[in-house]
Parts: sequence; structure tokens; C-alpha cells
Amino acid sequence: MQEEQNIKALASHYKEIINLLGEDVDREGLLATPDRVAKAMRFLTKGYHESPEEILNKALFKEDYRQMVIVKDIDFYSLCEHHMLPFWGKAHVAYIPNGHITGLSKIARVVDVFARRLQVQERMTLQIKECIQKTLNPLGVMVVIEAQHMCMQMRGVEKQNSTTTTSDFTGVFNQAKTREEFINLIR
Ligand SMILES: [Zn+2]
Repeated sequence: MQEEQNIKALASHYKEIINLLGEDVDREGLLATPDRVAKAMRFLTKGYHESPEEILNKALFKEDYRQMVIVKDIDFYSLCEHHMLPFWGKAHVAYIPNGHITGLSKIARVVDVFARRLQVQERMTLQIKECIQKTLNPLGVMVVIEAQHMCMQMRGVEKQNSTTTTSDFTGVFNQAKTREEFINLIR
């Protein structure tokens, strides 16, 4: 019920936006558009209603393995908070366990939860890192994100093929050798 009202309110705002953009909102092709956009936006920002810490905490396993665990090429789709246009790409995550591991799919889900919010790539990188450090308490964690930004490609500087890379790390990844091992494995 709450959600239905939410969609309805969003849709009425989108109707007004389409009108302000100079379109005829009563044109046949646009009749259901406000409602569709509202639903799409709710989906693309559903990360606000999910807890990444909870996802990891529910799948913690005691394990003595103390080598690098790498989950690479995690596809994600996000929205830049400055233009609400998509940015998308791949996230690569590595951690070295300190008594606990988590399900590999859970790492991908954590990326997804942070991506399904209004974001900047830099903060998303940091949030994923902090979430894993806080819940798994590993010897170190490193996150690398490579992304393309529609707000750069469709407007403004119109740089078609530029990729933005961000990275952040904790603990043993402060050692250049450890970072190199990870970088070599994701190349
Ligand atoms: Zn932007």
C-alpha cells in the first residue's frame, strides 16, 4: 500500500517533468510512461532499503584460509548523484580473511546494494571497502571499480570511451606487493 502510494506520487511528478520538457503527456505513447519511470526508478534505487552489513553478517563462516580471495568482474549499474544519469562497469574486490569468510555471491550483492543508490564512484568504492572491513574484519580488503559515466558521454565533454578507475584498500593492501598481486590477477 505504502509502495503503491509512493509510485503514484512519483508518477505524478514525472508527468509534470515530461510536460515541462515540452512534451504532450496525453500522447498515446507517453500515457503509461510516468508510471513506468516511477517503477524503474524505485528499482534502480532499491539499495536504500537493503542492508549490506546484514547480507554479510548472515553469511559469515569460520575458516582458517588466509590467502587472497578475489571476486572480479562484478557487473554493476548505478546512477550518478549529480545528474541522475547511469554509470556502470565492473567492480573487483579482494580480501584476505582473518578467521572468517563469506559467500562469494554475497560480495557481489554488497556491490549491488551500494550501486542501487544515487552515487559517486569514489564514495561507492569507499563504502564497499568499509562494509567488508567492518563485518568480515579481514587482514585487508581492496576494491577497484572501473566505470563509464553517461553524464560524460552524453553531455558536457562528450568523451565517448573514457573509463574512470577508482580504488581503495585497508590493512595488508597498504603493501605495494599485495596490491600488485591483486591487480595482476584482475588484468
Ligand atoms: Zn554525473
